[in-house]
Amino acid sequence: MNINFFMPTKVIMTDNCIHKNAFLFKEFGQKALIVTGSNSAKINGALQDITEALSAMEIQYSIFDKVMSNPTIACVYEGAEFAKEQKVDFVIGIGGGSPMDAAKAIALLSVQEVKEEELFSGIYENKALPIIVVPTTAGTGSEVTQNSVLSNDRMQTKMSISTPILYPRLALLDAKYMMNLPLEVTINTALDALSHAIEGMLSVRSTLLSNYFAVESMKRITQCLRYLTPGKTKNSASPLFLDVREKLLYGSMLAGVVIAHTGTTAVHSMGYSLTYFKNIDHGRANALLLPSFLRFTAKSDAETVKKILTAMELNSADEFEALFLSLLGEHEQITEKEIERYTGITLQSKNISNSKVIPSKEDIVSIYSRSLQIV
Ligand SMILES: [Zn+2]
Repeated sequence: MNINFFMPTKVIMTDNCIHKNAFLFKEFGQKALIVTGSNSAKINGALQDITEALSAMEIQYSIFDKVMSNPTIACVYEGAEFAKEQKVDFVIGIGGGSPMDAAKAIALLSVQEVKEEELFSGIYENKALPIIVVPTTAGTGSEVTQNSVLSNDRMQTKMSISTPILYPRLALLDAKYMMNLPLEVTINTALDALSHAIEGMLSVRSTLLSNYFAVESMKRITQCLRYLTPGKTKNSASPLFLDVREKLLYGSMLAGVVIAHTGTTAVHSMGYSLTYFKNIDHGRANALLLPSFLRFTAKSDAETVKKILTAMELNSADEFEALFLSLLGEHEQITEKEIERYTGITLQSKNISNSKVIPSKEDIVSIYSRSLQIV
């Protein structure tokens, strides 16, 4: 047996989580930088809960709310400059993957000079400021990972800063912030989390223990999928019960623990181009590719694929594909020229070599072709 498990984040999940645990903020210092997007944390109440909790503990704070989805390198350098000016002691990221990932990079860059070309090197002189996160979507798992995924315009893809110093010190999970998430966002993020759990099983770095988390995650998320009936009105609020929201949040956190150990695989590598060039949401991009990737893997590793299907209470890859089709609706179009370009980028990516069954150039072309509509 070969286990190497490290998860230093304190995870607390309960109702009214921020207020109940505000006393924990005291140990991180006297001034916080809150990192968030322009809107959602204000609407869902998480920002207000954090500012009230900080005030109750007599901790000062500044707010950096310029994080866009798929945050750029320029954005995190700007946030880090602001953090230095404001002389903060710790960073609180509130939001989906983008604000949490930006918060991590800002915490890293605000205590040292790192040249842009060395940002993804994984080698840094100093530690990062302590990081606290409050996820407001259930998908990324960033609350329990050492990764900060940023858009790298020079490489024309998304890339990860990956270092143990980016593990959040504290993750506060409260599903109430997700109650009014639009259905489309709920589906895309749930499928991203599912993709993390599945890719974790398909990674060369998977272990008995990471698989244990992956199976538990797949079970929980799959139980929720039947409540996500799409199609009627895009972006309509999805009135899911709190217990379903909690299960999705729990499942995505578990899947985050998985990828913290296994990394993602060729699916994420291929998905990054769909997001970068075609603006397809990250979770949706992975979900579009997963059924074909699973079929591809089944040819050489039927045993692992069977374990995945069993955890999801599915009998075949056909049922898996049908489930994804029902959630995703019509697939986006792609040209052969685009496939050629994205295949080249995928072959250069880091995560592809994590795959137990590594797809060749021809395999990648075939997976893109089967996953989207060729025009
Ligand atoms: Zn992902």
